[in-house]
Amino acid sequence: MNLKTLTLSRLGYSEYRPLQEVAIDALCAGQDVLLAAPTGGGKSLVYQSAGLIRHGVAVIVSPLLSLMSQQVEELSKKGIRAKFLNSTLNPGEQDDLIWALRHEHIDLLYISPEKLVQPSVIGFLHSFNISLFAIDEAHCISQWGSFFRPEYSQLGQLKESFPNVPIIALTGTVDKETINTIQTSLRLNNCQVLRSSFDRSNIKIQIAQKRKAKQQVLYFLHHEVPGETGIIYCRSRKKTEELADWLSELGLPSLCYHAAMTEEDKQANHNAFTQQPGTIMVATTAYGMGIDIAHVRFVVHIDLPSNAESYFQEVGRAGRDGKPARALLLYGLQDMIQAQQLASLQPFSANKELASVGKFFRVLESRGCRRQNLLAHFDEDLPVCNNCDRCLSNTSEQNVTIASQKLLSLIYYTRGIQPFSLLIQILLGKKTKSVLAANAEKSPLFAKGKELNEVQWKAIIRHLIAFDYITLGTISAFSVHINEKSRSVLKGKTQIIIPNEQYYPTLHEDNLEI
Ligand code: ADP
Repeated sequence: MNLKTLTLSRLGYSEYRPLQEVAIDALCAGQDVLLAAPTGGGKSLVYQSAGLIRHGVAVIVSPLLSLMSQQVEELSKKGIRAKFLNSTLNPGEQDDLIWALRHEHIDLLYISPEKLVQPSVIGFLHSFNISLFAIDEAHCISQWGSFFRPEYSQLGQLKESFPNVPIIALTGTVDKETINTIQTSLRLNNCQVLRSSFDRSNIKIQIAQKRKAKQQVLYFLHHEVPGETGIIYCRSRKKTEELADWLSELGLPSLCYHAAMTEEDKQANHNAFTQQPGTIMVATTAYGMGIDIAHVRFVVHIDLPSNAESYFQEVGRAGRDGKPARALLLYGLQDMIQAQQLASLQPFSANKELASVGKFFRVLESRGCRRQNLLAHFDEDLPVCNNCDRCLSNTSEQNVTIASQKLLSLIYYTRGIQPFSLLIQILLGKKTKSVLAANAEKSPLFAKGKELNEVQWKAIIRHLIAFDYITLGTISAFSVHINEKSRSVLKGKTQIIIPNEQYYPTLHEDNLEI
């Protein structure tokens, strides 16, 4: 048995996955590697194996203490000499660790990025042999979006301080631009870039227009995933608490998780979630990175995530055991407007934030297969899906060019200051208070859009926003503009075709049978 196979069985596995082997071979040959694979893709085994095969201590940089302690515990059970260096160690424990490292009694050393970039620690790392550096969750280098960790941007010094130690950067689902950012930032000029398919074909993807979201979630829980374990993501902390309470009152065991909770409460809820099947975790994005629970059967987004990367990562927490799982995203026009305004308020790299929100809108509003659209965002060409709401129901499409012309004309006539809800009421010919207050029943377009219903009008507006036929103002007061692209629609030079959308059903409390 060769060393690679021996190491594999020491770690408790019988076979490497193809990409794991390629990455391990490259590291063992002293080459730098950038490995991008979806959550659950088996990235840990790569640095653990290569670290054991190569001579010296493998130093693993990970942003999460919980993840480090979990891995150290699991490895120790397998008889692997793994430790972690962090600020919770007392001076005596630190001395023992230093002694063990210098005497080569340790194979894998986990360390946080904050600790690693301290000059004294870098100096100390020079006092023993290092087999490799693994930078886990390397997308935290990317200086925008919700993942950013400032210490990660200092990790570039590793290549200079240790030019002969191979580095492996590991990341989940990211686009090519982020891969380039990671490479540049870590100075991995000649690294081997390995990307596995990001597809998680066992997860059924459903994306639907939001209406009475809580009732839609109840329908999903009742009809699609009864009694299953899953996560519901919300944007606000308060909402996670309220929703968890509400679901619990309805007899659906639910817990919440967000960054403002105490460490003890977070840990207690996490433990209960992992140990009690059938529990629902209602959480903000604070719950996620590094969480490896095989039996999560569904992920619901009741609000719009901030970009396609976050969405895909969060969805990827379902079905890690490879068995069928479900993802449901509910969002509406209002969520899009809010997301766009939030991104435009970001002081830092505002253009990038806005651009990534815009890209996500296009993924959501594109025609055709959901999964193909999502993977195309990550530059992956997926031949078949058959497991998303569009592929499973053969959604039809309609040409809405004339309706779009009516809407764009109305925006022009109302000088872009009226909210979309009012524009829809005008088009539907509804004499509501706000229509009358705006004197809009006299508009030439009043009641000229009755051929469509409110859902369809909203779908058209979302499409027009996503594909830049309508420009949203970036100031807090509502304003929209038409532009060159919209003029082309108004002149009939561009056709607008959108999928026929339907609301995801709701479950009313009256006939609740949970
Ligand atoms: P990632 O870090 O990419 O999210 P992990 O390293 O946590 O993924 O691995 C995900 C799951 O796959 C784990 O449960 C792990 O035990 C399993 N796994 C990884 N590699 C193999 C393999 N070669 N054979 C069988 N199971 C594997």
